[in-house]
Amino acid sequence: MSAASVLRQVFGFDAFRPGQEEIVDAVIAGRNVLAIMPTGGGKSLCYQLPALVRDGLTVVISPLIALMRDQVRGLREAGVEAHALTSGNTEDESDAAFSALHEGRCRLLYLAPERLARDGTQRLLRQAGVTLIAVDEAHCVSQWGHDFRPDYLRIGELRRALNVPLAAFTATADAETREEIGQKLFDGVTPETFLRGFDRPNIHLAFAPKDKPRQQILSFAAARKGQSGIVYCGTRAKTETLAKALADEGHLTCNYHGGMEADDRRIVERRFQTEDGLIVAATVAFGMGIDKPDIRWVAHADLPKSIEAYYQEIGRAGRDGAPAETLTLYGADDIRFRRSQIDEGLAPPERRMADHGRLNALLGLAETLTCRRQALLAYFDETSDPCGNCDLCDNPPETFDATTPVRMALSAALRTGEFFGAGHLIDIVMGNATDKVTQRGHDSLPTFGVGKEWSRNEWQAIFRQMLGRDLMRPDPERHGGLRMTDAARPILKGEESVTLRRDTIRAARTSRPAVKQMVSEEDAPLLSALKAKRRALAEAQGVPAYIIFTDRTLIEMAERRPVTLDQMAGIGGVGAKKLDSYGRAFLEVIAGAVEDLHPARARLAGQPSGALYDRLVAAQEGLKTGSDGLEKALSCTPAQLARVAKTRPSDMGGLTRLIGEKYAERFGAAFLDEIRKGE
Ligand code: ADP
Ligand code: ZN
Repeated sequence: MSAASVLRQVFGFDAFRPGQEEIVDAVIAGRNVLAIMPTGGGKSLCYQLPALVRDGLTVVISPLIALMRDQVRGLREAGVEAHALTSGNTEDESDAAFSALHEGRCRLLYLAPERLARDGTQRLLRQAGVTLIAVDEAHCVSQWGHDFRPDYLRIGELRRALNVPLAAFTATADAETREEIGQKLFDGVTPETFLRGFDRPNIHLAFAPKDKPRQQILSFAAARKGQSGIVYCGTRAKTETLAKALADEGHLTCNYHGGMEADDRRIVERRFQTEDGLIVAATVAFGMGIDKPDIRWVAHADLPKSIEAYYQEIGRAGRDGAPAETLTLYGADDIRFRRSQIDEGLAPPERRMADHGRLNALLGLAETLTCRRQALLAYFDETSDPCGNCDLCDNPPETFDATTPVRMALSAALRTGEFFGAGHLIDIVMGNATDKVTQRGHDSLPTFGVGKEWSRNEWQAIFRQMLGRDLMRPDPERHGGLRMTDAARPILKGEESVTLRRDTIRAARTSRPAVKQMVSEEDAPLLSALKAKRRALAEAQGVPAYIIFTDRTLIEMAERRPVTLDQMAGIGGVGAKKLDSYGRAFLEVIAGAVEDLHPARARLAGQPSGALYDRLVAAQEGLKTGSDGLEKALSCTPAQLARVAKTRPSDMGGLTRLIGEKYAERFGAAFLDEIRKGE
């Protein structure tokens, strides 16, 4: 089968995602490939599809057992014989894998890297006729990365021993890691490299300054009730309190952090993967190993630690390509916390500088005045137009010339020896004679009370934006007292002006997001019904809901409302096997009843041969009793018609072999006409 028909028939997709086709072509052609694609870009298809087009067996090396199991399950659902050999196998699973290998039935074998260290693995693979090695998460070969897996170093040796092409995939690879992958996996011969962009256009981006942050998270979740989401929290304790607050509002919720027992963590991971609409309040420990494509939203209750961390964490949402939403909260305390974390860390000075830089990039994104996606992509050296899918494109911010208040703030800091935090400095510029102010004589400073025209909220927003732009930095040696940075000098001297946002100052208190629907109001009830059907099927089989169909597929069903198997086959994500297993069940939800197709015809649903079959039936109908209507009634069986439709004989001889002389005499000419028409 061609790549395009495998895509359609087995995976049920109409088209490749951007970048997939070139990679698939290169892998099918047997070239060595390194592909760097963002999470959710659709990497797995880039080796699964070639595995089915090529002869022989493809071994897939992947670091996470849970993900391997998931993929094997997904492939089986699509009618592909796939197996895994991992330490998590039951004896039966391993036996089934070995017999499939011996009998040459297995098309994809997922292998845990530890297996490579075992005696006999190479021999097993050679005898099984491996023709392609695919390596998922290829950056695990890098000794300098966080995910280093020593056993990945054996992959190069395996490639040499089997002498077959290798295709490596990863979402994270800077130039050095790429180089290292080339060295370790391809013996230094540069593979054909594909670098896909970082944009994830289906993810809506939004930031908000903290203002009753718990309430902000609760209303964000309330507007998305019943959808799977993650709330990232800065501390373990907060995962507990937020999970409880969410549960009190009637959400299905768990919490998760690295300090929990391994078993408890496994339970949460498993529940999240299989249940529909669970919210997990977690620290960043929740991430590696989460491969759920239908996470609909990610919220940060606290500011992430860098722009890279932010990108990775929001990137867990919407891997299925359907709309997903994010909200990142931040406040002056977060900025202080992240700065002190860097300053108090044990990293060498250059490293700390770089970490401050990465934090600055995130703060710059938080305080940007134009399209957030443009700002985010610019950090990864990509240019783009305003996206129309971020909070700033939705509501362009109101800005004001803040040079005067910024200079007041700087002056207040300088005149008090750069020893104080925002709260005290705000009291000074607003002219609040607190005890702390009077005891230190700060009420007699020339800056005392010069900023009365701005409210406390407004001053807080000004200070936060100043911290965000790194005009002031908390000094760890002075208990977080704010110091002016070099960037602020020209402003103080009157050589530069500053523009800040006004709306975050006011909007923070009023925004209560409207309930977000994934589909229009009239399609929403159908979507819920389809989801309920999916849940029932998933529960009956003990598999995650998305293994049956992804959200994106259900949304398309709800919008296009197919009523026949043919139309159902045209929905993205409905391959031949899934159409056969679930097509009717979902059609019943949409249309109530389903047409009664003969199984021979149903198997052709959505294919060109299905349409030809229908034309053959019509042609036959007209000739049932001969062209003069006087002969004995005769008709082909559905199975015969299906055979004709599938094989499309081009002449009478071929047709006669399929349906026999008697029938060919009556219908042959008409059938051949129909076959030719379809070409
Ligand atoms: P990753 O690159 O993160 O490994 P996956 O391979 O898990 O991504 O793919 C993410 C999602 O995209 C999956 O749900 C997959 O079914 C879907 N997908 C992949 N290719 C296509 C395609 N050509 N059309 C539609 N959906 C696709
Ligand atoms: Zn935008």
